[in-house]
Amino acid sequence: MTFSDEEIERYARHLVLSEVGGPGQQRLKAARVVIVGMGGVGGPAALYLAAAGIGELVLIDHDTVALSNLQRQIQFGTEDLDRPKVAVTEDVLRRLNPHVRCRLHAERLTPDSARRLLDGAQVVIDGTDDFPTRFAVNAACMATGIPLVSGALGRWTGQIGVFSGSPCYQCLTPATPPDAETCARVGVMGALAGVVGAMSALEAIKLICSAGAPLTGRLLIYDGLAATARTVRVLADPDCPVCGGNTAIDPGLKLA
Ligand SMILES: [Zn+2]
Repeated sequence: MTFSDEEIERYARHLVLSEVGGPGQQRLKAARVVIVGMGGVGGPAALYLAAAGIGELVLIDHDTVALSNLQRQIQFGTEDLDRPKVAVTEDVLRRLNPHVRCRLHAERLTPDSARRLLDGAQVVIDGTDDFPTRFAVNAACMATGIPLVSGALGRWTGQIGVFSGSPCYQCLTPATPPDAETCARVGVMGALAGVVGAMSALEAIKLICSAGAPLTGRLLIYDGLAATARTVRVLADPDCPVCGGNTAIDPGLKLA
């Protein structure tokens, strides 16, 4: 795979990074990344991944743009109200980087459709805010061996985790918490969505380029109010209905 002069200039700041360089940029161009949810996390993630030169972005969201989205979903503008989120995002990404192919699915991801929608991805980013969808994405990623980058928001706190084999997302969250909070009910700081979305894109890029230490099996918790971050190990759950706590893929994580 070769790059045009235009692409070499476009990606110049990546090409001089030793962890990316020509080989890494080629891997980005050859990659397909699926983003589930074009909201506060998925939008900024999509923008940074398109700017980074990912070859194909698959965007999944059944919803349309609402006025209350604009406080944090900065991929949308006021003129986009009531348009499908995936279509608006494609327009924005095409303007940012015409080399990126977009595949749109204006539908809800379900346990039945998950494997079809995630097919062929190198990485999946889940930025949705409902647990049934998160469980369906996790199960499909586990079944197909696709690494999952999970980004979540709660008021002033953001969480980013990477799951590849066991422990999986459902080891961390076995069932929908009884006190599950939604952005609509408890609020969320808009700029926090950008932090989590950008970090989700960063983890996806690291995975594709094999750069640095991915967050695999760990959870990064960012407290926006305190301006502190900590990273904790996720323990494999032997009773997990998805992975059964089978850490054969990365046995070191279970000991942590
Ligand atoms: Zn599990």
